[in-house]
Amino acid sequence: MQTNHFKYILLSFLLSIINLIDLKAQNTPVEICGYQAEIDKIIQRQPNFIAIQNDWYRKAYEAYLESQSTKRNIVADTILYEIPVVFHVIYNTVSQNVSNALILSQLNELNLDFRKLNADTSRIRSIFKPLAADIRIRFKLADIDPNGNATSGINRINSSVSTFATNIYGNYNEDMKISSNGGQTAWNPSKYLNIWICNMEYPNYIGITYGFATPPTGSPNWAQFQNATKDSSDPKSGVVLHYKLIGKNNSLAPANYKEGNTATHEVGHYLGLRHIWGDANNPNSQGCNVDDGIFDTPNARDKNYSCNPNTNTCIDAVDDKPDMTENYMDYALDGCAAMFTREQGFMMRYVLNNFRTGLPIRTIKFDTLVEFPQKLVSIYPIPTKANGILNILVNSNDNNEKFMATLFDNNGKEIFKKELQANQKTELNTANYAVGVYFIIVKDEQGSIFKKEKVILNL
Ligand SMILES: [Zn+2]
Repeated sequence: MQTNHFKYILLSFLLSIINLIDLKAQNTPVEICGYQAEIDKIIQRQPNFIAIQNDWYRKAYEAYLESQSTKRNIVADTILYEIPVVFHVIYNTVSQNVSNALILSQLNELNLDFRKLNADTSRIRSIFKPLAADIRIRFKLADIDPNGNATSGINRINSSVSTFATNIYGNYNEDMKISSNGGQTAWNPSKYLNIWICNMEYPNYIGITYGFATPPTGSPNWAQFQNATKDSSDPKSGVVLHYKLIGKNNSLAPANYKEGNTATHEVGHYLGLRHIWGDANNPNSQGCNVDDGIFDTPNARDKNYSCNPNTNTCIDAVDDKPDMTENYMDYALDGCAAMFTREQGFMMRYVLNNFRTGLPIRTIKFDTLVEFPQKLVSIYPIPTKANGILNILVNSNDNNEKFMATLFDNNGKEIFKKELQANQKTELNTANYAVGVYFIIVKDEQGSIFKKEKVILNL
């Protein structure tokens, strides 16, 4: 009797452990993207990487404002970029040897998403529709390999390696990028976008990485990069995707990841984008104070795995907007992801022009005449250094026009108010303000808000 009772307790105990493991598998969010792991690796060899990245985000934003200047009425950068892509299929089993049809459907999906030709733009909420951008980048299979021979752009490697995951939690090695370790060494990464397709599943996994990409880490004309690895010589540069995520409606794809958007997300990282929540180390305490450095994505605390339109993880004091789950750089990919924003688009093109300069083949020049706005507000740089100068400038056709600028902290407290004269720059010294998120509102003489801008002060 006692023995039976003991057996019963032991069995209950074991069942509860099994339940716990099961719950963990179901409820623990899976870190599907390896972006943070890649950033951590970069920081090991370049500890000030985030500061450097913030710095080029600032430069890119200033360039963006310049490109929108009222002094120009033709968009200066009107080129359609075309990027040659090679898919390295590293397979150990028949199912890992992804078909040409799936690879082509993936390429097609990338081309639809980056040109805003995807049919699912219809699901973008009306508040975000004006921000959705044609990035004017397209992708084509490489037709010449690094030796000058003709290629299909799909390179198949039969490997003895069954998986590139290293444990049940989603960690991985990068042997898929090394020929002598069962992978394929990159084709010249300054000339090709290398996309490795391989197995990232570990047996009985709890977490899994669906994909990861190397962000740009060096610019040849920046002195601080002299000792850093340049993209042009970094053989790790490129995108890695789990083979089940390739293409549209892949029968092996996990639920909620069947639309081929994982590749779009990872190519976004490869072209310099961060996650829209800004990748805070501790989202609960820091999330709303860490930004993605892109002004036209709303503030978000952490990743979203669902498309719930009521999700609003950071309540901004003024002109609050919900999380932009429509953005490819969030985690809820199927069912809602359908857009990059205008500034994300500018950022990716900035990366092509400043970091991955050997890569794009410039093909078509658009002759898009763009009507310049009657009034254009420039607030820069964003992010601003906490002991720096924030500039506010309203361009108008009327020099006599006046405006009112008000700066709020993230609790809605008004901390600065000043009248602005059209076409005259106003400088705000930020030395007295704490690091964090602020909002600036510009009103016209009738009191109508015509500009709201998120302002980030960082170190
Ligand atoms: Zn990511």
